[in-house]
Order: sequence, then structure tokens, then C-alpha cells
Amino acid sequence: MTQKTIAVRASGLGRHYGSDDARVTALAGVDVEFMRQEFTAIMGPSGSGKSTLMHCVAGLDQADEGQVWIGDTELSGLGDDALTDLRRDRVGFVFQAFNLLPTLTALENIVLPFDLTGRTPDTAVLDRIIDAVNLRNRLHHRPSQLSGGQQQRVACARALVTQPDVVFADEPTGALDSFASSELLQFLRRSVDDLGQTVVMVTHEPSAAAFADRVLFLKDGAIVDEILAPTADAVLERMKSFERAVS
Ligand code: ADP
Ligand code: MG
Repeated sequence: MTQKTIAVRASGLGRHYGSDDARVTALAGVDVEFMRQEFTAIMGPSGSGKSTLMHCVAGLDQADEGQVWIGDTELSGLGDDALTDLRRDRVGFVFQAFNLLPTLTALENIVLPFDLTGRTPDTAVLDRIIDAVNLRNRLHHRPSQLSGGQQQRVACARALVTQPDVVFADEPTGALDSFASSELLQFLRRSVDDLGQTVVMVTHEPSAAAFADRVLFLKDGAIVDEILAPTADAVLERMKSFERAVS
């Protein structure tokens, strides 16, 4: 068994909005590590800082305090161009609202990250990903001709095709029915187990978090708890205990 290495690390991450009386602390000094080939779920009440944390560690938003490393690269040391390259080449994103380009086919959406660089995708990798998301017979359809579940699997394939250091998914099953959710979560799980990906997913569903290797709980911009090898029941119990603690 090989030693796991760190894919993404943040230290002392702080993010604040507004000023004076209206000042909101979205992140209150977060230290966190995401290991390679691990699937982490992030949970917590609405407004607890989940999206802010994800955006800051992904280089989409800049923290006010602290540092982020993707692999050995420290983000605050990068200029705009280097940051743009890093976001395109080393980070994958999946959003609740799919964010596909409506005029492009499924395949064109999947390989879009390469079109932006002029590089060509590794066809073996592309083939594996298309089969893994089970979209082989939908490649020439446009998003409007696909179900929500299929669209989100296109978005996942697009996030994976550059073989990024890490894939961030912010409530990726939020707009899907339970069957499509389950398919998508199984795919994210396989992308870790079979394709060696690193996945960090925000969710508010215990059954979704149970697909992960680890669940982090966020409250008021801080990580307050963790469950390893989570089950849906264990996650639900822990969420209830937080609610009891505040009431
Ligand atoms: P979550 O994803 O857990 O629901 P967010 O990270 O979106 O939480 O938000 C954390 C806190 O920061 C909330 O109080 C939210 O209102 C605030 N916040 C997030 N983005 C902004 C923004 N662009 N301007 C002002 N406040 C924001
Ligand atoms: Mg959010």
C-alpha cells in the first residue's frame, strides 16, 4: 500500500465580507488537507462557509488570510495568468446547475477544457471517462436533448478529462432526482477508486455523504467535526447532535 500524499492543503484560511457592523466572517481560520485519491464530503448548515471554502481552495476566490497549496503550488504566489492556467489544467469543477454550453454537443462540452488550450485530449483517457459516465450513445446530443442526470454526467466528464489534481463539486446532486443522484455519486466514487481522482463534494444529504471516505462538518466558517468511513445513519446522527447542541 502506497503512502497517500496531499492533493490540496489550506492553512489559516480566512474570508470576510462587508465591513464594520455588516462584516460577515465566511471562513474563520480553516486548516484542512485533502489527500490524493480520496473522496471527501463537506457538510454544514446553509451559510456555514462550504461554498466559500471550496472556492478559495480551488483558486476561484481569494481568501483574506491564510494560504492554499494545490500540489506544491501555493496560490497566493501566482499571477493572474498562472492562476487561470491552474484553474483550467489542475482543477475540475461541477456545479449544481450543470453549467454546460447549450450550443455544443455533449462531446464538445466534455473536451472544452482542451479547446481553450489548443492541446488535444489523451484519447485513451477520454474513452475511459466517456464509458465511466455511460454517455457513449449520447455524445452528439446537445444539453437540451439530455436528462438532468445525463447533463451532470457530461459536466463530470468535463471536470475529469484534464486529469486534474482535484475535482470540486458543489451540491452536484442538488438538482437531480434520487435515481440520477445515485448514478452520479456512484460515478464520483468510481472516479476515485478506478481512475485515481481526488474528489471534494459539498452536499446536505447524508446518503450522498455516505459515498465519501470522509465527511467534514463546517459551522460558522470553521471545521467542527469529521467522520471517517461514514454511513448515512452516522452522518444523520451527527447532524442531529449539532442541532441539539444549539437548541
Ligand atoms: P454555504 O455554501 O455553506 O451555504 P457560503 O460559503 O455561501 O455558505 O456563505 C458563507 C457566509 O458568507 C454566509 O453568511 C454568506 O451570506 C456570506 N457570503 C458568501 N458570499 C458572499 C458575498 N459575495 N458577499 C457577501 N456575503 C457573502
Ligand atoms: Mg453553498
